[in-house]
Parts: sequence; C-alpha cells; structure tokens
Amino acid sequence: MPGIVYLVGAGPGDPGLMTRRSLELIARADAILYDRLIPPAALAGARPDADLRYVGKRPGGHSMDQSEINALLVELGSAGKRVVRLKGGDPFVFGRGGEEAQALAEAGVPFEVVPGVTAGVAAPAYAGIPVTHRDDASAVAFVTGHENPQKPESALDYAALASFPGTLVLYMGVRNLARVAERLIEHGRPADEPAAVVERGTLGGQRAVAGTLAEIARRVEDEGIRPPAITLIGRVARLREELAWLERRPLHGRTVVVTRARAQASGLAKRLADLGAHVIETPAIRIEPRPVAGEVRAAAEAIEEYRVVCLTSPNGAALLMEALYAVGKDARSLANATVAAIGPGTAAALRGHGVRADVVPERSVAESLVDALRDVPVERRRVLVARASQARDVLPRALRERGAEVDVVALYDTVAEPLSDAQRSALESADYITFTSSSTVRFFMGAADGLPDAARVVSIGPVTSATARELGLTVHVEAERHDVDGLVSALLADAEARS
Ligand code: SAH
Repeated sequence: MPGIVYLVGAGPGDPGLMTRRSLELIARADAILYDRLIPPAALAGARPDADLRYVGKRPGGHSMDQSEINALLVELGSAGKRVVRLKGGDPFVFGRGGEEAQALAEAGVPFEVVPGVTAGVAAPAYAGIPVTHRDDASAVAFVTGHENPQKPESALDYAALASFPGTLVLYMGVRNLARVAERLIEHGRPADEPAAVVERGTLGGQRAVAGTLAEIARRVEDEGIRPPAITLIGRVARLREELAWLERRPLHGRTVVVTRARAQASGLAKRLADLGAHVIETPAIRIEPRPVAGEVRAAAEAIEEYRVVCLTSPNGAALLMEALYAVGKDARSLANATVAAIGPGTAAALRGHGVRADVVPERSVAESLVDALRDVPVERRRVLVARASQARDVLPRALRERGAEVDVVALYDTVAEPLSDAQRSALESADYITFTSSSTVRFFMGAADGLPDAARVVSIGPVTSATARELGLTVHVEAERHDVDGLVSALLADAEARS
C-alpha cells in the first residue's frame, strides 16, 4: 500500500491554536518530521512507537538540506508510511512546504496539505493589531525580511513595497530591520508610519514594541528583541494602544506554580493560563493506583453490603468506580448506600460515573463530613471509607465512635515526584505557589529547597494551610471554597488587590 505525506501547519506557538486536523494526524502518524518553531508539547499526542525526527536547525546553525528533507519525505512515503511533516505556522507561508509538495508530486507520492494559523496574522492579533481594518488597511502583504546583507542586489523590491497600499508583514529578519526600514523610507514609505514588532507571538513571554517606522529598529535593539519575531508596518499598528488585550488579562505577567499531581493539574493549569498567568507545573506527587486485589477487590465485591460509602478525593472516587467495573459491577451496586463525598471535585468525579453523592459537606474537610453524616444511621452498619493510603483517621474514628463497622480501604498511594533542574530554576520566578492538598505541600517541600521569598502561598483550605504552617510556611491566601474554582478566585482576588 502506498503511504501518504501530510504537510501540516502547527500554528504560531500557542498549543490552543493547533487545528483539530493537525492533532488527529499527529496521533496517527507512523513518522513525524518536525522543525524548531512548533508549539511546545505539539508531539505529546504522537504514538509512543512513532518515528520522530527533528529536521530543523541545529544549535551550530547547520540544518538538514531542503533536498535531503524532500528525499526523506519521498522515501518514507514510498515505503508505505503515514508521514506528518510538521511546520510552524502555515506550511505554505515561508515554510518551504511548496517545495516539499513539488518533490512529492514529482515522485508520485500522495500528499495532503493542512493549513495552519500563520504567525504573520496571529502574532499581531495577540498584540492587539488586526492586519486589515476598514479604516486603515484594505490589503496586507506577507514579505520575507530575510535578506543577505552580503549581497549587493536585494531580493526585495523596495519601491513596490514602499508604495504598497496596505499593511506590510515581515517574517524573519529582525536582525536586518534597520536596513529594511531605511530602504523603505528612502523609497517613499512615510517615516512616521506606525510599526510594531512582536517577539514570540502567542507564546508565553510574548513581547511587543511599537514605534514609527523611523524609530522601530532602535526600539527593537534597545529592548533586545530576538527571533522569532514578526514586524508589522502600517496604520493598523496604532490600534494596539486601544486593543492590546493580552496584557490586560488579570494574571498577565504573574508566574504561578501548580504542585498538583500531573494527572489532575491540567484543569487548574488551564484555568490559570486562561487568565493570563505563566504557569509552571511542578507536580510534587504522583498517584499510584493499587491493583484491584486484596482489600480493594474484597471491598468492591462486597460493595452492596455497605450502608454508607465515603469518598475523600476525586482520585478515590474514580478508582472505586474502576474497582467496581473490574469485578463486573457498576453504579447500580451503590443503589442502596448513602454515598458521601468530601469536596465538590469528589462529587463531580462521582457524577462522571453516574453517581450523585447524597452527602457533600459544605467545608471540604473530614470533620465536616462527620457533621454532615449526623442524621445518617450508622450504628452496627457497615461503612466503607475509600481513600489514599496515607490519610488522617478523623472520619473512621468518629464513625466507629458512633458504633459503625468501618472498613478503610486504601485505593492508591501518593508517591513523591522529583523536581528537575529546569523546574527548580523556574521556581525562582514564582509569584504564587498553589497547594491543593496536605500531601502536595509535604511532598513539594520535601523536593524543593525552600520557596523564593517573593512567592505567595495559596492554599485550597484549612487542612492544607495547617500542614503548610506546620512546615514553617506562611499562608498568604486561603480559598473560601475548597475546590479549583475557589482556589482560582482567591488567587485572582489577591492579585487584583496587589496590582
Ligand atoms: N510557516 C511559518 C513561517 C516560517 S518562517 C508561518 O506561517 O508562520 C519563520 C518566521 O516566522 C520567523 O522568523 C518569524 O518571523 C515568524 N514566526 C514564527 N513563529 C513566530 C512567533 N511565534 N512569533 C513571531 N514570529 C514568528
């Protein structure tokens, strides 16, 4: 069977700007040939056995020859592989995708093109600049600023560009900007025309500088702007003042550390990133489910005998349901039990498995659950408490005092996740460090060598705060609602109060 090569655009850098089609193809590819300017984690969804090859520039500056890349694409495609050729932005905008398509066409290898969001449109958009506007620009030109200063004759037609009636978007060549701007002015482009340069557009740490065409190169130099950057020349650039939305997001410029286990961190990290925060994930713990054997299996098999089933964490809720499935049961086997959940996250995890918790205490601590169960008869009844191996004894003890026959089952262990050097150094710049449980505080403090002085500690609730204080931390912010939403709101309120 012949293979196929997909020439795929990965967008300008923000992973959220990758197309659905690109993610689908990455997930199915046998081989992926990729460049330097693809979004971070763009390959995260690739098959574990996929052949991943970097064909971009090497640190020394040497890159694989275009003809070698073409030959490799033809070779893999002819060998029956599903190949993704992944490029930053759009493959047909200064991406040499055209040449690759020609090589494939000539060799008779089937190919498809998947457009991407191009940096020349996206970087200005993230800087608050529309490349066209009814009043200011009814045309836009994409131009390469990559000029070889050694060559006396220029690849660019400066006279034509100077008289172009609309926005000029220059890819590459921030290093030649002074020369390009000068030549444009010489050829009649107004020296006071608005211009802007956007560095690392759509990525964390995006920077933009604005100025007139005459002064933009000096500004860029003063600010130390480096590639990748897009230069935009045109009246629309002045709209940035009015439309710069990125910088106005409430957590813009703040670095927030998420210490939660990786499997659960993404919801919190996403919420914070959507508010403009630079998020550093330093998972301090990892959840290790215990196999459905021994006491876990026994509890699942006897589940109908429990009158009350208590879940203390979202992990516990999910793993109890998995254990039920493993022994051929499902939500229906909980029909006669009172199901109690600590925390709205735990209740939500249950709901995901078709179980509505009967009791969810207002405060997400074991003491409150004991309170909330006040009117549920437990004497001489079997009660299951399903949770992590390391946990407090408040709940089982209180239930036993009331005459319940309590089985405590450990569904998972919480184990330490070491910090990498990169994570350690990223921590230095933290404005906020978030803790969503006592175990994350404990494990995080065990892995990190203290916290940076300027960092503010945000805790999800009183139990987590108490653990933090025991370990000598000052808790600056404590959530009123003990879930991710509550934590994000509390952090946001603190950031706003301090801005
Ligand atoms: N095919 C790509 C462009 C490749 S040429 C696209 O459609 O976007 C590489 C140039 O693109 C860089 O030198 C820079 O000018 C621009 N570029 C790519 N990613 C960028 C980003 N995130 N921010 C600003 N410019 C970017």
